[in-house]
Amino acid sequence: MRGVTGTSDPWRTVQNGYEVLGWFEGPPWRDTKGRLRRRLRVKFWHHVVWEQAHGQIPKGCVIHHKDGNPLNNDLANLECLTNAEHTRHHMGARLRARFDGERKRCARCTTWRPVADFGRDRGDRTGLSTYCLECARTERKTRYHRLHPVPAPPRRPTFRDDGTHRCFGCGEWKPLTEFGKVRSKTGGVASLCRPCARAHWQAWYRRKRQRHFFGTPARS
Ligand SMILES: [Zn+2]
Ligand SMILES: [Zn+2]
Ligand SMILES: [Zn+2]
Repeated sequence: MRGVTGTSDPWRTVQNGYEVLGWFEGPPWRDTKGRLRRRLRVKFWHHVVWEQAHGQIPKGCVIHHKDGNPLNNDLANLECLTNAEHTRHHMGARLRARFDGERKRCARCTTWRPVADFGRDRGDRTGLSTYCLECARTERKTRYHRLHPVPAPPRRPTFRDDGTHRCFGCGEWKPLTEFGKVRSKTGGVASLCRPCARAHWQAWYRRKRQRHFFGTPARS
């Protein structure tokens, strides 16, 4: 086995289509079963090349292969891009229609929102949920209510067997003769008793006259 005893020189191999630099770090040790163990370190070769020329890769940045060939690790072929720039670079048109690296279009409200407005979804290519957080919350709620429908509260009856009707204005039970006749309504009478109806229409007429002579009051 390479480098089990003593120090080993770093080596270069191709791993998952990328050239990498591997080396063992620190002295070897024996595990509980007596086997010799070493700490293996691996680094992308294109990172090594770029760092030799420019220093440490800034945080949140990616070293991109300009010609698209990950094995062409010529310094001239390497470019330091921010994560957002890099994502944009590799995105197809369909993905670009809903994501630009910094903002994403919510599939529900269809507005472009900053990445921070989305939850995480590792199954999506953008790593973000399809719906914005707000929509996701609404969607969860509607789904819950669809599964657990709340029955509408029973309507309080407004007619009694003794021939009285509850006025919508004052709330009092009065005989049907105390109400104006309205053919279109259930029971054939108005919802307001005569005094309430008079007050209502007087107020309505006052407001109408006010508007006619003085115009709609400006809202400040
Ligand atoms: Zn790239
Ligand atoms: Zn939304
Ligand atoms: Zn009334």
